[in-house]
Amino acid sequence: MKRIVIVGGGISGLTVAYRLHELSCEKEIPIDMTLLEGRSRLGGVIETQSKDGFLLEYGPDALMTDRPWSINLCKRLGIESELIGMQKEADHSYIVCKGKMCRIPTGFYLLAPSNIKALVQSHFLSSAGKLRLAAELFIPKRKSKDDESVGSFIRRRFGREVLERLGEPLLAGIYTAHPDQLSMQAVLPHFREMESKYGSVTRGLWALREKHGMKDCTEENSRKMFVTFKDGMRRLIHALIENMPDVSFATSTPVEKIAFDHMRILEVTIQGGAVIEADAVCLALPAMRSSEIVNSFSPRLAEKLADIKYESVVTVNVAYDELAFPKRLDGAGFVIPSVENRRLVGSIFSSIKFDGRAPKGAVLIRTFLGNAIQRNNVDLDDQEMRQLVTEELRDILGVTREPLFIDIQRYEMSIPQYGLNYQKLLKAIESERAECPGLFLTGNAFAGVGLTSCIHQAELIAEKMFLQFCETTENHVQTVGQV
Ligand SMILES: Cc1cc2nc3c(=O)[nH]c(=O)nc-3n(C[C@H](O)[C@H](O)[C@H](O)COP(=O)(O)OP(=O)(O)OC[C@H]3O[C@@H](n4cnc5c(N)ncnc54)[C@H](O)[C@@H]3O)c2cc1C
Repeated sequence: MKRIVIVGGGISGLTVAYRLHELSCEKEIPIDMTLLEGRSRLGGVIETQSKDGFLLEYGPDALMTDRPWSINLCKRLGIESELIGMQKEADHSYIVCKGKMCRIPTGFYLLAPSNIKALVQSHFLSSAGKLRLAAELFIPKRKSKDDESVGSFIRRRFGREVLERLGEPLLAGIYTAHPDQLSMQAVLPHFREMESKYGSVTRGLWALREKHGMKDCTEENSRKMFVTFKDGMRRLIHALIENMPDVSFATSTPVEKIAFDHMRILEVTIQGGAVIEADAVCLALPAMRSSEIVNSFSPRLAEKLADIKYESVVTVNVAYDELAFPKRLDGAGFVIPSVENRRLVGSIFSSIKFDGRAPKGAVLIRTFLGNAIQRNNVDLDDQEMRQLVTEELRDILGVTREPLFIDIQRYEMSIPQYGLNYQKLLKAIESERAECPGLFLTGNAFAGVGLTSCIHQAELIAEKMFLQFCETTENHVQTVGQV
């Protein structure tokens, strides 16, 4: 029986294990599978806690449904019926503009309006900013096929104001990076394609709208983009674990290194010195952790993995009595452009966004701090952070009472920075990895930060491992391919 070790028990590692388990059952080829997790619990950054009738998400709070992979996984796990969509009141979001909450009009697709009404209603832009945004239709397309920063693309096509007021806060919320440091090829390749195919992103969006009827960019559709579980994101982790009884899970088992023995069998060394032999190993870890583990085995791969930089993020769940607000909250939340000089990245109105997040008469807000633009804030101690969040929410939302409680969760170096020429770096990593028979890599550094992308990437890697190690009688047959 082939022995496979998966290192890392976040969504990526668990999905690799589950897909291998599925293939093993389907093809009736048993696998001896072990998943090693450094911490005392599985789930990685996915963490849900119940507290005083509130349901707190520390890490991700939703799955994106724009691509099918996460919903497909839920279907296969038998938990699709437990998914809930966003509530009606959460069908819009806000941008803080000159200290005030400004509603993002329906019809905005990230940075570009898919209709004229959306453009006219964008109160967070000056008249000059709107004209410059409209001029995107006539800006000649870029000839070079080289990578470009997202900041440069937005500035070039939509103007500085759209970058500062819309692009930067929206992208900082997802990638924790400044747009000038993000790779267009890695982050917004479809916008580049629209530019090259239609000569303009706006024109590309109109063409899409035409193709799909009036369906895209409506409030209802934007609500359907995000789903979660009635019991929070932890449900996905529990379902994965419950559905693979043949996998051995070892928590509190940090892996230190991997190496080949004299028979070219992989040896996985755990902190404390215990060694596990394996035919194949998948590292489903942040890239810098994988880099440390492969260092003695392939210094060149380690060096390339270490080139992937990460940023930290802090989530602060703040619970209030609903009477603390001058008016009833609505919307999914708000983002704050850095030109506003505030100390938060943005907030999600958790109890408006999804049902069952706060008891009756209470409100739950999840606030984000820290990214490449406001790095200093993540170093504040808990007391300073509590004060900062309370003051900022008081100022922005007019809150008049103290919070019922504040819960702080820190995710250090958790979000990979998809920098300029990122695809080139990934290719270089893949060609080094292909030189290490039996070694596979996955995680949020490889094909997208969101859960849906992590799931897809992990499934592809599992299929590759199965094909190369379980369906063939020969060990260590490797093909050089793109991860
Ligand atoms: C605060 C926050 C909010 C987010 N919100 C969303 C959202 O709403 N929707 C969305 O789609 N995405 C969201 N994301 C992104 C998404 O959640 C992550 O990209 C994804 O969960 C990463 O999963 P992973 O398994 O690749 O990594 P991780 O979850 O980081 O898992 C890696 C695991 O490896 C373990 N490990 C590390 N070193 C070792 C070692 N040496 N030995 C053994 N184990 C080790 C770690 O303990 C960890 O459990 C969010 C991310 C964060 C941080």
